[in-house]
Amino acid sequence: MLLTRKAEFSASHVCRNPALGEDENRALYGANANPHGHGHNYVLEVTIEGDPDPVTGMVFDLRELKEIINAEVVDPMDHRFLNHEVPPFDHIVPTTENIAVEIWNRLHSRIDLPNARLKNVRLYETGDLYVDYGGEA
Ligand SMILES: [Zn+2]
Repeated sequence: MLLTRKAEFSASHVCRNPALGEDENRALYGANANPHGHGHNYVLEVTIEGDPDPVTGMVFDLRELKEIINAEVVDPMDHRFLNHEVPPFDHIVPTTENIAVEIWNRLHSRIDLPNARLKNVRLYETGDLYVDYGGEA
């Protein structure tokens, strides 16, 4: 069974690789490389795979899941300039892909029960664009 919880946060970022020159960054990332940054209203979907606990009837405690997502993702990232305020994005380009990986890394050890584990992180940067990440292949 798959259980999904949604959360939202707003954050700004710059997509540029400090190892590359200005022209290369502009060519790669376009306006997203503007050093002053721009914002997104990110939508996150955290999916857990498991079986309902025979006693509680739950795959995972939804209140606890909300607290984990808030503590690991929403509180540290909401209304932040990711490149300047949220490691590791001081040295890793905060593309949607890399943010999804970081969210996975923050959540997967906290969502690990005998009957349930983290299955997928889906991160929407816009309504038209999202990334799915399910851990290293
Ligand atoms: Zn952007």
